[in-house]
Amino acid sequence: MRELRGIGASPGGAAGPVYRLAPPPALPPLAETVDPEAERTAVRAAVLAVAADLTRRADIALEATAAEVLRAQVMMVQDETLIDAADIAIDGGADAPHAITDVLAEHRAVFEAAGGYLAERVSDLDDLRDRLVAACLGQPMPGVPDPGHPYLLVARDLAPADTAGLQPALVLGLVTAEGGPTSHTAILARTLGIPAVVRCPGILDVADGTLTSLDGVSGVVVAGVSTEAVDTVNADRLAEIERRARSQGPGRTADGHPVALLANIGSARDLTGEVEGVGLFRTELLYLDRSDPPSHEEQVVAYRDVFAALPGRKIVVRTLDAGADKPLPFLRLADEPNPALGIRGLRVARQTPTVLTTQLAAIAAAAVATDADVWVMAPMVATAAEAAAFTESCREHGLPTAGVMIEVPAAALRASQVLRHADFLSVGTNDLSQYTFAADRMCGDLADLLDPWQPALIALLASCAAAGVEAGKPVGVCGESAADPQFALVLAGLGITSLSMAPRSIPAVRESLAAHTLDECRQIADAALAASSPQAARAAVDGVVGRQMKITVSH
Ligand code: PEP
Ligand code: MG
Repeated sequence: MRELRGIGASPGGAAGPVYRLAPPPALPPLAETVDPEAERTAVRAAVLAVAADLTRRADIALEATAAEVLRAQVMMVQDETLIDAADIAIDGGADAPHAITDVLAEHRAVFEAAGGYLAERVSDLDDLRDRLVAACLGQPMPGVPDPGHPYLLVARDLAPADTAGLQPALVLGLVTAEGGPTSHTAILARTLGIPAVVRCPGILDVADGTLTSLDGVSGVVVAGVSTEAVDTVNADRLAEIERRARSQGPGRTADGHPVALLANIGSARDLTGEVEGVGLFRTELLYLDRSDPPSHEEQVVAYRDVFAALPGRKIVVRTLDAGADKPLPFLRLADEPNPALGIRGLRVARQTPTVLTTQLAAIAAAAVATDADVWVMAPMVATAAEAAAFTESCREHGLPTAGVMIEVPAAALRASQVLRHADFLSVGTNDLSQYTFAADRMCGDLADLLDPWQPALIALLASCAAAGVEAGKPVGVCGESAADPQFALVLAGLGITSLSMAPRSIPAVRESLAAHTLDECRQIADAALAASSPQAARAAVDGVVGRQMKITVSH
């Protein structure tokens, strides 16, 4: 047995044989004699096979964003100019795999030279090249393996195209050598409810088929476990899933203090099961892969779809959060040396105000057509003046409940002043960590700084919650930290009124809250606030929780 350590990224235990993501095909030497007709046919057959495979993956994708990415790839591979250019390369003496490789290398150079959004799509082109070449060579599609039985998926890191078609029934768990707790892999694993460990370097040395177990909380991975150990871990997990599936109802502490448990979604497809409401509706999906913004009518239809699914319930719509890690071509944002510190989120309205006003008008029109309780909030607000301008614009559009996200430390420090102009706050701890610690949220090497248990982050959360209590207005949390059952106790104790997360994370948080009174949560929050490091904060909270358990048992 060999014990490896990574970072727990999606809770739960899983065990089974490990299998690695299939590697990209190696390009063989150019065939000596080339039959141009046969090569042209091979290119066409490869295009058909890859388009069919990606379409199938998009159809079964459980995550709307992932499905969109895959459909965009299908459009790329079906582009007529690709086949035309391959024909020309074949006329010049290339065989099918080389023709595809050469043509896509040209496309790649164009994308790279264009910079910005297109340059970020080169990995999609590389992925298409690998798939097309594999199809020409009759090799298995690179990507997620299909051994025909459940397994643990191992990879250096996962691209959206790899994770889109993941079936939780087959992929019991994920272990990646790279990535961080707020990386794409981690967020997707939590959305799908697949236990995951990221940043576990030794995992790439474990041979395919080795029976392995992982703990998605502690980050411990054990390679070379017995069949009995595998059965025990999986039986425990199944029992846990079944027990949680039976847990229902609104979020409450043991003494009945309400803490609403809401869902983070990107479209109506992400709504799985009963939820109290939606605490974060990310609207970026509508704007992806487009050279023009979606029209008013198109937006009304998309918003109405979501609102209609939740009659009478609260839905917090976040206005477009473009820029930095979510670049959108139609905005034609200039290249910036530091995009995360540039024109992003609400700041886009400084340059293109109509994008925001069109969106607010569409949200208002969709809200009128349903009886959902629609709230609106802006991302990346830094000052009270920005909050005032945004909420005024919402009111002008007939949207009665307008708030802001707290993602910038400046806004957290002035939460009371911001709240004078807003009906509610929602703390986005993913970005708030990034900006508080000056640590890129995609950088796995800085994962320790991005840990939500960092006392400086907890202090900013405390300042926001206190501002809400003082003003008598709701203050929620919608970053990944809200999904940590233990951290949820800290948040409730600070006075946070709602927690929004991937729907699958809700049952564990519900259970954790129900096991503690509000007073206990306050003691837990005090212990976390008084700690000097994330480790000390976790240990202090474990200590308080353990003490409370003992008191409960002895009564
Ligand atoms: C956040 O920053 O915490 C957040 C919820 O927004 P996003 O992850 O979409 O940036
Ligand atoms: Mg954010």
